[in-house]
Amino acid sequence: MNNSYDNKNIFSKILRSEIDCEKILENEHALAFLDINPQAPIHILIIPKNKYIDFYDFTQNGSAQEIKYFWELVNDVIKNKNISDSGFRLITNSGKDGNQDVPHFHVHLLGGKNLGRMIN
Ligand code: AMP
Repeated sequence: MNNSYDNKNIFSKILRSEIDCEKILENEHALAFLDINPQAPIHILIIPKNKYIDFYDFTQNGSAQEIKYFWELVNDVIKNKNISDSGFRLITNSGKDGNQDVPHFHVHLLGGKNLGRMIN
């Protein structure tokens, strides 16, 4: 576990049920919920349930099972929203240069319209 993980970040509060979220799906190791400020008709966040700061932390320190369950949940949400054919975008912001706001690893799943070539 990374010692610099901030237990006060908003996603850790969601995981502790201290604040609500609009849950889409979950499994043993990951949770998917609606982004509070959607940037597309479908904008869902997928997070691991354990404490990982960002993509690098998760992929370096997550167990094989956590990583497997995480990507399985991403796929389950894609299936649940029926966007495998129409397409989607996965984004993970990391650190200062990535403009990551919430220091708990998350993937943004965006879809439901043509998203253009890149997010501005
Ligand atoms: P990032 O810049 O990649 O860290 O993105 C953080 C995302 O979390 C933003 O898209 C926010 O809209 C979203 N967000 C912040 N607070 C909440 C919340 N309480 N519930 C759902 N999404 C949130």
